[in-house]
Amino acid sequence: MTKPQVVFGVAILAAVTILLTSVSNYYLIALMVCVSLFLFGMSMFLRAQFFVKSIFRSSENNVLLSFDDGPDPLNTPIVLDILKKNGATAMFFLIGKKLKGNEALIRRIHEEGHLLGSHSFSHDPKMGLWDKARTAADIEKGHEELLKIVPGAGDWYRPPFGLTNPNIAAALMKCGLKSIGWSVRSFDTVKKDPTKLLDKLTQEIKGSDIVLLHDTQDITVSLLETLILELKSRNLTLKAELN
Ligand SMILES: [Zn+2]
Repeated sequence: MTKPQVVFGVAILAAVTILLTSVSNYYLIALMVCVSLFLFGMSMFLRAQFFVKSIFRSSENNVLLSFDDGPDPLNTPIVLDILKKNGATAMFFLIGKKLKGNEALIRRIHEEGHLLGSHSFSHDPKMGLWDKARTAADIEKGHEELLKIVPGAGDWYRPPFGLTNPNIAAALMKCGLKSIGWSVRSFDTVKKDPTKLLDKLTQEIKGSDIVLLHDTQDITVSLLETLILELKSRNLTLKAELN
């Protein structure tokens, strides 16, 4: 080969290498972005059961009302009164840092036949960014604080924000906790109109559903009795039963 041919050959080889490398890099970056988005989506989509297996159903012809984020010293007693008056039992997922000072209320929840579960200690929205040790410590503390007040509380856990990831999965395994999901989400923390929310719930709820509510929300308290009466009129029971 002549010198110009060698130079041309090297130049072509260099151009192809740069092209292939750049295409390959774009491909790798695109792949990494897709994988990251997929894993993020799965971490926020409890129903996919990608990281943690969860229970999503109650028994047939029964509706399990579940209340997150309590105890609430003002609203939880009203919710308990309504449930008692209507012969219903439900499930309460309590935030560990809210337990102190509400011990009598928590014991009342248990004594009136409702199921208790943990909802982490901190309920921190940044929990998904924590390392394995911090995640485990928060979940463990939330459950332990509950057991100090009600030793017979179940080994149930409701992931805050429906968030799961490998660290949360490892923490639940370590603590022997079972994840409880939901099949109907009320969005009662953002809804403003009780009539519209009641309509949505009565249209969506069927037998064996687990309904996600919050006993911290005035809107939920305001429509609870009407919702219970409507469900009972359809011959659905309202018991704290998991499938
Ligand atoms: Zn919550």
